[in-house]
Amino acid sequence: MADATKPLVLVTGATGYIAGHCIRELMEQGYRVRGTVRSLKDAGKTDHLRKMASALGGSLELVEANLSSDAGWPEAVAGCTYVQHVASPFPPEVPKDENELIRPAVDGALRVLKACAAAGTVKRVVMTSSVAAVAMGHPPDEKVRTEADWSNPDRCDPYPKSKTLAEKAAWDFVKSLPPERRFELAVINPGFVLGPLLNADQGTSGELIRKLMVRDMPACPEIGFAPVDVRDVATAHRLAMELPNAAGNRYICAGDHIWVQDIAKILAAEYNPRGYRIPTGKLPYALMWIIAWFDKAVNLALTFVGRKEIVSSAKAQQELGWRMRPVRESILDTARTMIEHGVVPAR
Ligand code: NDP
Repeated sequence: MADATKPLVLVTGATGYIAGHCIRELMEQGYRVRGTVRSLKDAGKTDHLRKMASALGGSLELVEANLSSDAGWPEAVAGCTYVQHVASPFPPEVPKDENELIRPAVDGALRVLKACAAAGTVKRVVMTSSVAAVAMGHPPDEKVRTEADWSNPDRCDPYPKSKTLAEKAAWDFVKSLPPERRFELAVINPGFVLGPLLNADQGTSGELIRKLMVRDMPACPEIGFAPVDVRDVATAHRLAMELPNAAGNRYICAGDHIWVQDIAKILAAEYNPRGYRIPTGKLPYALMWIIAWFDKAVNLALTFVGRKEIVSSAKAQQELGWRMRPVRESILDTARTMIEHGVVPAR
């Protein structure tokens, strides 16, 4: 239930997968929430948020703002005590021009932060970065990466490059502010996000589970990720917003590396007896290379074949008291909600 005495929190990119859960987490804790969307015209993209607010008795206001334009940001930030800056382009394919990702990510983050500095009411911004800003562009050395590590933007694909440059720009901007305009910054660096869908938009990270569920690939490529549940990512954003010691810190939120084949085995054990045909064999590299000619998402994955993504969430656990649910629960909840929302046909 909304508490009129609780601060107003702005969540950017409210239509997105992670932002929807951030909004739920905040409303469950009584915060009043304002969310930005690129356009209010398509009511279908925000219906789930309005229904959620009504079910929780929450206070939710939606306003328009685009990362590629200055318009709307001063009004979006006005009166807010906290901002969770979650919006950033996260497409399933590599764009022809890397600036399609980099410009909205970097310039958009700076637009949000400049509006916060001008507003004078914002105490802290929590920005959604990624392990893609921590662990990419390094040799495949299986070193455990921590918050002390940064991806090498000169040796990254456009998406990790956009996340690395945007996070660096945010830290530099906040450091450059004069004391009278300064606010605090904390950053969450999630791994590969899984967990329940709030609507039929499965987001980019859910695409892998969908492909496995509908057998859109004949076998499992030898790639893997450090996974994290979207509900735990939302909790991490709230903790980083509330806890005094989080200011000025980045926090990796991701569990132990898991191969796609092991994700498939968890899904297959649950769903193949119900008529699904989830593949659990390993896709030979040569076949993956051929498929990559036709499938841009597989093409993107080629650089990750055989590589382990090893990161540590120890800092978030120690400093935020943050905990992760078991990955099996996240995987099965992703699949269950994909069926509920019709993303994957029911059997
Ligand atoms: P989604 O694609 O579901 O959400 C992205 C959001 O950003 C959408 O609301 C989208 O709006 C908005 N957005 C994109 N471009 C613009 C723009 N030019 N102006 C305004 N809004 C824009 O992705 P996720 O929820 O998965 O990702 C959210 C954040 O988390 C991103 O910063 C991403 O980099 C990060 N992240 C995600 C991970 C994952 O595995 N999912 C892992 C680590 C980090 P619209 O609906 O209008 O397109």
